Amino acid sequence: MSKQIQAIRGMNDCLPQDTPAWQYVEQILRQTVASYGYSEIRFPIVEMTELFKRSIGEVTDIVEKEMYSFADRNGDSLTLRPEGTACCVRAGNEHGLLYNQEQRLWYTGPMFRHERPQKGRYRQFHQFGLEAFGIASADIDAEVIILSSRLWQQLGLTPYVKLELNSLGSSDARAAYRDALVAYLEQHKALLDEDSLRRMYTNPLRVLDSKNPALAEILAAAPKLADYLDDESAAHFARLQQLLTQAGVEFSLNPRLVRGLDYYNKTVFEWVTTELGAQGTVCAGGRYDGLVEQLGGKATPAVGFALGLERLVLLLQTLNLLPALPAAADIYLMALGEAAELAALSVAERLRTDLPLRRIMVHCGGGNLKKQMKRADKSGAGIGLILGEEELARGEITVKWLRADKPQQTILLTELANALAEQA
Ligand code: ATP
Ligand code: MG
Repeated sequence: MSKQIQAIRGMNDCLPQDTPAWQYVEQILRQTVASYGYSEIRFPIVEMTELFKRSIGEVTDIVEKEMYSFADRNGDSLTLRPEGTACCVRAGNEHGLLYNQEQRLWYTGPMFRHERPQKGRYRQFHQFGLEAFGIASADIDAEVIILSSRLWQQLGLTPYVKLELNSLGSSDARAAYRDALVAYLEQHKALLDEDSLRRMYTNPLRVLDSKNPALAEILAAAPKLADYLDDESAAHFARLQQLLTQAGVEFSLNPRLVRGLDYYNKTVFEWVTTELGAQGTVCAGGRYDGLVEQLGGKATPAVGFALGLERLVLLLQTLNLLPALPAAADIYLMALGEAAELAALSVAERLRTDLPLRRIMVHCGGGNLKKQMKRADKSGAGIGLILGEEELARGEITVKWLRADKPQQTILLTELANALAEQA
């Protein structure tokens, strides 16, 4: 036997028993964003490497060590997209969607990051994200957050996720804060880990984002960004909190929340859960007013978020919040004998035309009634149809109730669709 080829580590198949859970989640996401007037945008999975370097930032986990980059045959450096926002802005700029306009957009699809695979962290994973362009005021930040909160409500997750909020302020405010933070970190240099020492000068805010528990104490006592906020950002942040309170969305302020991407300013937020271990962030986002211009467009305010679909599905599974697996079929058509087997597919076709919402599975591969009934049972169908040689000659078919205690009936084929239409 030849050796089987395996999938790439950290890149998962989604098997038939799992796709209904994904479809359920995707359907709720689509319905919810539609109810806020967001439109779908689709962009390629591969982009120029430069796009991510310029947007996410050179000194970030993603760009430093997580990107799947490769040389195209003509020598261009291309990258499998690690996230959607940069792609969305690139597409928006390229097609003139952003300048002087408001756009509420959503996207979904696979993202790629070369991370250590573990529960809730994969190398190919899926995000659902949305971006609102052209609105600078805090009401749109609030809407984006309220929308995410409605998603949890629709999925039954409200008790299990908590909203954390922070403001990164303007770039000037961050620069002033950065100096104070570096001065503080220098005093505690001996206690920092390798990653933090490296980041201290290149991207000191990211030190705050460290997940190393040994640093928790030093970082908790570090200067707070909130004390350095510029007036405009402080007012924006206060307004956002007021709007969320008014909407009944609970939150807590997390002064250490800085996010792992460089393009954010003002609002940043994360929805976190304690039910998934270390990979507890289900959804994350914020405002990125500088990014559109940074990528060559005209200055355009923007805010958005991305949620990790694997973590969401995992959370729903863990909490037993997924609906029961649906049966594959409603009706299972069996045929006995040469003439009946010949007619079965066309009987099913007519039925599909007459009953377009019913899922009709035709038994293929022959066999005796016992074998066919076994398959019918496995299909989950509630109704079995048996087409026999003699019945067919009389233009009839037998209807058998597979999950209800009702006597079987033999009816005219011409009346089959009507008879079934009356059954739920
Ligand atoms: P983390 O801190 O967990 O690494 P992140 O800050 O890198 O997350 P973002 O870039 O903000 O994540 O992506 C948004 C969401 O996408 C995350 O909150 C998470 O739910 C999901 N996500 C990110 N990376 C992965 C991954 N490697 N595998 C599965 N889901 C992921
Ligand atoms: Mg990450």
